[in-house]
Amino acid sequence: MTFQGRSHLFNDRNVDHYRRSLTDGVTRVATRIARTERPFTGVTPDELAPEIAGIDLERPLSDPAAALDELENVYLRDAVYFHHPRYLAHLNCPVVIPALLGEAVLTAVNSSLDTWDQSAGGTLIERRLIDWTAGRIGLGEAADGVFTSGGSQSNFQALLLAREEAFARAAAAAAYAGTTLSKHDFLPRLRILASEAGHFSVQKSAKMLGLGMDAVVTVETDKDRRMRPAALARELERCRAEDLVVMAVVATAGTTDFGSIDPLPRIADLCAWAGVWLHVDAAYGCGLLASPTRRHLLDGIERADSVTVDFHKSFFQPVSSSAVLVRDGSVLRHATYYADYLNPARMAEQRIPNQVDKSIQTTRRFDALKLWLTLRIMGADAIGALFDEVVDRAAQAHDLLADDPRFEVVTKSQLSTVVFRYLPPAGPGRELADDANLHAREAIAASGDAVVAGTKVDGHHYLKFTLLNPETSLDDIAHVLELLAEHAGRFVNKKLGVTENSGPELHRKAG
Ligand SMILES: *Cc1c(COP(=O)(O)O)cnc(C)c1O
Repeated sequence: MTFQGRSHLFNDRNVDHYRRSLTDGVTRVATRIARTERPFTGVTPDELAPEIAGIDLERPLSDPAAALDELENVYLRDAVYFHHPRYLAHLNCPVVIPALLGEAVLTAVNSSLDTWDQSAGGTLIERRLIDWTAGRIGLGEAADGVFTSGGSQSNFQALLLAREEAFARAAAAAAYAGTTLSKHDFLPRLRILASEAGHFSVQKSAKMLGLGMDAVVTVETDKDRRMRPAALARELERCRAEDLVVMAVVATAGTTDFGSIDPLPRIADLCAWAGVWLHVDAAYGCGLLASPTRRHLLDGIERADSVTVDFHKSFFQPVSSSAVLVRDGSVLRHATYYADYLNPARMAEQRIPNQVDKSIQTTRRFDALKLWLTLRIMGADAIGALFDEVVDRAAQAHDLLADDPRFEVVTKSQLSTVVFRYLPPAGPGRELADDANLHAREAIAASGDAVVAGTKVDGHHYLKFTLLNPETSLDDIAHVLELLAEHAGRFVNKKLGVTENSGPELHRKAG
């Protein structure tokens, strides 16, 4: 038994086992990828759950090959494959091979980036990439930041810092006036302003930060789903009049549904005028930082106090890879706690770079290595060019939809989403639009032919493409639209009692 377990330890004696085992795993994934014809098999939870429940975890297979065979059935066969050109649903990108190489290296070495004494060069590489990212944003010399697990965590940490800064300022003002301010009294007065199209992690963060139920004030957007500066000015003024404290304005550079970028320069002006922390959530739009042609869409981001970037969305990195950046690195002290066993204060005095001093995590993956190898092998321009391609494709898809009478398209995205719906012909079928779109989305996923997303716009069900795969062609998109129109049209006809062949309710595509 002892021997059996030890043969699985990754060490100098078992490198052959390591090489064989991983090569076998890589070969199986490669075979699977080469053979994948559809992004999804359409498997249901009810079909898959018994397979997984039926495995006896008390009886190991011992043999990696047998375990991989089993894995084919419970995972690989039915997984959702983001690399497939007809996976058009969420903000999941196909990944670049240099990053997969990084992933393989970082998990094997298994550095933990909390302290220098658990990572050494890993810490310095992460710091270089933070500096590189801050440089691309233009945050200035004092900028700093840290890698996180994702945009939600980055947003949370940024808002934590903003809250602490707001409290420190208010407490200092109170002290100056000869009074004291209790956090208990202060928290309910805090507000965060974000657009209607902002990400829900802002609301979740507010909850975790102990703010009131109504702490997130949604600011109106324009027809392109960008925050209206005039509405922001109004909310800032209203909060001031009601003795509320705006602890942060969250501008979104790439909204999840519409790919809209809030007008950053005007928002930055208003924040400067009101003395309010500006957080830019560029979880999605950060790919523009590498774009050879569209970097200007992010103009104004350099004036942020904090920025969220998700490399696992628009830098073609595997989950997870994200970072939070701040203009003034010293604010990261709000995430600092000196523990005797880990990162005693004397280490900070000795300038030992312990990233845990800046992070809300302790043990932390060396995700930065994936981006490092990506930049060292491909370079930023190549990443930006891939992102540019999907942004171009979304514009083409928008035009395709705008010319197609069967569909209604919402806005022209500045990034790579397309929000649209099947619109049954005027008449009794029109009422069925919501159900028809819901049905079409489910039916296409169940068939496995494509995976598309859905969202609600003004209370109605819409469909959404999130394009992140440069391999997705306009033909793919046209084909998926045909399938969606068929599913939706058939649904409407069935509901109206129209038989398949007569099909008067089915649109005929123009041209
Ligand atoms: C995806 C997204 C997030 C959340 O990021 P995760 O990495 O999924 O946690 C936050 N903000 C925006 C705008 C996003 O699109």
